Amino acid sequence: MPKLALLTAPGGPIELAEFPLSDPAPGTAALKLRMAGICGSDLHIFRGELPLPCPFAMGHERVGAIAELGEGLTTDATGQPLAVGDPVTPYFWFCGRCHACSRGRSYACQNLLAGEYRTHDQEPHFIGAHGEYYYTSARQPLYKVPEGLADEAVAPLNCALAQVLFALRDIRLGDTVVIQGAGELGINAAAVARTAGAAAVIVIDKIPERLGVAADFGATGCIDAGGLSTTEITERVHRHTDGIGADWVLEVVGVPGVIPDGIGFLNNAARCSRSATSEWDGPSSSTPACWSTATSRCAA
Ligand SMILES: [Zn+2]
Ligand SMILES: [Zn+2]
Repeated sequence: MPKLALLTAPGGPIELAEFPLSDPAPGTAALKLRMAGICGSDLHIFRGELPLPCPFAMGHERVGAIAELGEGLTTDATGQPLAVGDPVTPYFWFCGRCHACSRGRSYACQNLLAGEYRTHDQEPHFIGAHGEYYYTSARQPLYKVPEGLADEAVAPLNCALAQVLFALRDIRLGDTVVIQGAGELGINAAAVARTAGAAAVIVIDKIPERLGVAADFGATGCIDAGGLSTTEITERVHRHTDGIGADWVLEVVGVPGVIPDGIGFLNNAARCSRSATSEWDGPSSSTPACWSTATSRCAA
């Protein structure tokens, strides 16, 4: 029987369980997965920083081929016809009924863990990305993967890339952008910012190897924050931004404590955008907001 990875308890271990396949429900698809990503959110879950019940089927970034189509599912979210064998990637699902969804803000769905919340112990079992199969939900947009795209490029698309595309969607040609954190989101953000026309993209992290990857993805300046004070980092940011500070700061460390630092990097009338994963730190956390590609903003 095909396998599904389950986090048995906070901190592990992760064990492989076997479950039978089933017919996909109407409007859904069964996918034979080819590759999955490990998002920072997965690490939060692994460490027990989210109050999710264990055993927990982990992973929410994946790409796979359609193994079976449920009744009535004939096209992807853009209207392209679907057939068995097509490579596809599913996006986060939303309820479609709450206040946010009804106002076109499905990224802020209030029922992320209610509505169609599924657990692995009920059919179709394969509800996480870290398994051999994945069954979509009826409210989950599904996208056919264009030919020629490598699985490595597509697997993180629905979370790491989509979140930063959303957060940085208003960048203008010539803007200066500071990215706090060179993890999966930060590295994708560097590429998005440069592609959008940013004149300077400054990435801050404490791990030099990650900064090297950020440079490969478009960062024009990297600041190794290891051993530096906030004042020293701020001075370096200003040196990279004509002495006036950045037009944008994107916080993707996932640690609320760095948000005040980021506000100090901004120039007048700039914007600070924050990955919602930072909300995961603290006992009141209950919703994996990263699943909604939510970001919040504050004017500086
Ligand atoms: Zn994620
Ligand atoms: Zn909703």
